[in-house]
Amino acid sequence: MSIGDTLQTFSFDILQSSVTVYSHLDKHNYTIDDLTVYVKNLQEEKIKRIEKLEGDRIKNQDEYRRIAPKCPNDGLPLMLHSIHIPQGKANKNGYKSLLYCNDEDCLYEKYSRKPADYLYRQMIRKGGK
Ligand SMILES: [Zn+2]
Repeated sequence: MSIGDTLQTFSFDILQSSVTVYSHLDKHNYTIDDLTVYVKNLQEEKIKRIEKLEGDRIKNQDEYRRIAPKCPNDGLPLMLHSIHIPQGKANKNGYKSLLYCNDEDCLYEKYSRKPADYLYRQMIRKGGK
């Protein structure tokens, strides 16, 4: 198989970048094996970073559920939503936030004139009590 046939699945841009990278490695006495190990390590670090972010996200969600006010109908933690529509025709009462139940069969909603971040800080202070 010719080199053209072997490399035909790669775009011209990728091949050109490969030459640039390979020349640079060669100049600094590194091999393709060094590059392979380096890229593999980068990939593992990237995966670890993503896993940590996901872990933090789940931890934050669990913490929110713990401190959130509970739905009076079913006891589920109420979700907090910020309202950005200024007081006027579309928002006559000037509501700035909404606590709502996430259960599909429950229609509980509680609007507030206090901003969502204020309510959130209040939840943190109360710590779920
Ligand atoms: Zn509910």
